[in-house]
Amino acid sequence: MDEGLRNELSKQGVFTTTLSDLYNWGRRSSVWPLQFGLACCAIEMIAASMARYDLARFGAEVFRPSPRQADLMIVAGTVTKKMAPQVVRLYNQMPEPKYVIAMGACAISGGPFKQGYNVLKGIDRYIPVDVHIPGCPPRPEALLHAFMTLQRKIDEQAMSGKARPRHLNPDAPSEFPVPQFGEHDLVPPKNEMVWETPVVTRNG
Ligand code: SF4
Repeated sequence: MDEGLRNELSKQGVFTTTLSDLYNWGRRSSVWPLQFGLACCAIEMIAASMARYDLARFGAEVFRPSPRQADLMIVAGTVTKKMAPQVVRLYNQMPEPKYVIAMGACAISGGPFKQGYNVLKGIDRYIPVDVHIPGCPPRPEALLHAFMTLQRKIDEQAMSGKARPRHLNPDAPSEFPVPQFGEHDLVPPKNEMVWETPVVTRNG
């Protein structure tokens, strides 16, 4: 519908919308995070849900203890290689539509422990991440900003066509391989469906 006509109608008390807008409004206004934390970043995540920062304003204060009832995974903290299989398994158990926020330097790249033998260099090697938050640790405001970014992303999704979310695409997988310890490291070393090793070129 023409935007001008829509505005004119709303001035007269007639509100119009589309099925897609209504669907997206419902999803973005009730994103329920999974209740778990991995390290220090989780303390900032907890602060974001308390009265001062009040994540409840976005309909997201209902942290669920079961992945079956959650549609947002906030990976808050250092992902060790020992914990990576559990994180992927929890992601697989979440129903669609589901989203992931990688919170902090550790979750997005390994952070200060990047060179450690036991730390994953980014959870996006195994599951698709919708929003990355840099920082060590990111403040609660950064998590709120990431949350609003995710809401905008949900708003842009359509019910059909290329912009449809993954759960409306029958060809898109909802579960990914859970890595296991092999002889030397995690197997598989990455999820081919979500992670491409960056090509590094050096001059001279
Ligand atoms: S990014 Fe910094 S604050 Fe967050 S888990 Fe890693 S070391 Fe802790």
